Amino acid sequence: MESQIRTIHQQLINKEITCTQLVQERLELLKLNTHVTVNSLLEASALESATKVDAKIKSGQEIGLLEGIPFGIKDVYMLQGTYTSASSDLLKNYKSSYTATAIQKLLDAGAIPLVKENCDSFGHGSSSENTIFGAVKNAVNPTLVGGGSSGGSAVNVSKDYTVFSIGGDTGGSIRQPAGYNNVYGFKPTYGRISRFGLMAYASSTDCVGPITKSIEDARIVLNTISGKDLKDQTTYHSEKILEEAILNSDAIKTVGYFKNFLESDAIDTQIKSDFLASIEKIKSKGIQVKALDFFELDTLVSTYYTLAMAETASNLSRLDGTNYGNRIEGENLKETYSITRSENFSEETKRRIVGGNQVLSQGFSDEIYLKGLSLRDQIAENFKKDFMEVDVILSPVTPNLPPAIGDSLKDPLAMYLSDAYTVGFSLGQLPTLTMPKGTETGLQITAAKNNDELVFKFANFLKDII
Ligand code: GLN
Repeated sequence: MESQIRTIHQQLINKEITCTQLVQERLELLKLNTHVTVNSLLEASALESATKVDAKIKSGQEIGLLEGIPFGIKDVYMLQGTYTSASSDLLKNYKSSYTATAIQKLLDAGAIPLVKENCDSFGHGSSSENTIFGAVKNAVNPTLVGGGSSGGSAVNVSKDYTVFSIGGDTGGSIRQPAGYNNVYGFKPTYGRISRFGLMAYASSTDCVGPITKSIEDARIVLNTISGKDLKDQTTYHSEKILEEAILNSDAIKTVGYFKNFLESDAIDTQIKSDFLASIEKIKSKGIQVKALDFFELDTLVSTYYTLAMAETASNLSRLDGTNYGNRIEGENLKETYSITRSENFSEETKRRIVGGNQVLSQGFSDEIYLKGLSLRDQIAENFKKDFMEVDVILSPVTPNLPPAIGDSLKDPLAMYLSDAYTVGFSLGQLPTLTMPKGTETGLQITAAKNNDELVFKFANFLKDII
C-alpha cells in the first residue's frame, strides 16, 4: 500500500538518504514556507536525533518503521522543554514541563518532531485565523484559509514539510483542514488515544489524531499512539488495526448518508453533485445505500457549541496568570486575573468563555446546558440506531469550499455553521476519517463507536473506486 513512511524507511535503510539530510531538508522547507504554519521550530533537537539514527544505521543496527521519520505537532501538545503556546498571547512564552502521552509514544518509536504548528488559539476556530502568529494559508490556494483548528498541521502534510502531523479534533479540527488541504485526517473513537498532555478544549469530545498523505500512514501512526493510559481515565485498550485486515471490505454491505445534509440550502451545488456521484459509484459496486434521517444542522451546531463553550470556559479558568502564562499585574488579585485574561485571550476565545459561563450560570444552566446534554444523548442514540441499519455513514466534510482569508473573522456565526457536518460525529464520539476524494473538500467516513477498523477498510475500498 502507498505509504510515505514506508518509502522513507526504505530509503534510510538502503542508505539512499541520511536521516540528517532528510531532517535538514524538511526544516529548510518549514523555515522558508510562506503558509505561516510554524509557531516554533525544534531544529537543534531534531538534528541531534537524526545524527543518532544515522549512527545506528551506519553501525548496521536495525531501525523501527517510524525511526527517523520527521513529523509535526499542533501547538496544543506538551513536549517537554518546548514552547507550547496554543497560538495565544497568554501562553506565548510557556514551555512544557512534561510530554503528552501520544507524543511520547512517537518519540519512543523514534519519530522526530520538527515543529510546533500554527492553529486556532486553544482550538477555537475553523480557519486557523484565530492565532497570534498570523493566518495559516491554504496549501492549494494561499488566498484561502488553511482550515482549522489544526490548519498548520494539515498544510504542512499537504506541502510535504512534515511526513505526518498530530492534530487535535474537538468538533472537526482534524477532518476539516484535512479536507481543505487534500490530505487524510482521522479522528478516532473518543478514548482510543490518550488526551494526557493535550491542552483541554472540550474534554468530552477532544480527540488526538493523525494527519497524513495516505491511509496506510494514518494506520501506522494510529497504531503507535493508541492505548490505555493511566493518566487519562477515558482511554481504553484497543487492538492494532492490521494491514491485512483492511484489504478486504466484504464486511461492508450497506452505506448510509444523511438526507438533510444534502437538502440544506447551505451546501455548495458542486459539493452536492460530487457527493451524489460518489454515492452512485458505491451503488454500482453492489453496495446498498440508504438515506437516513438526522438532526437539523442548526440543532447539531448549537448543541455542540453550547457544550464546547461550557467546557472550554471551565477548562480555561485555570489560565489566570498565576501558575502559567503572561501575568499582568493589577491593583489587586481580582484585577490581576481580569487584566491578564482580558489582554491575553483573543476575541474569539473570550466570546466562548463568556458564552460558556453564561450557559453554565444559575438560571440558564437547566434551560441551555442540560438541554445540550440531553440532545447530545439523543444524537448518540440516533447513531446507535443508524448503525443497526448501515455499516458506515458517508458524508461531505464541509458544506462549502474554504473561505478567503479574512471572511470568517467578519461573521463568527457563519463560521460556526460551517462545522455542521463534522460536529455531530464528535458529539457521538465516533471514529471518522476525512479522505481527500469525492468532493472538493473530501469525504467523511464514519463507523460505530470502537469500529475504527471498519472506517479504514471502507476508505481503502473507496480510494480505488472514486
Ligand atoms: N471549529 C470547531 C470549533 O471551533 C472545532 C474546533 C476543534 O475541533 N478544535 O469548536
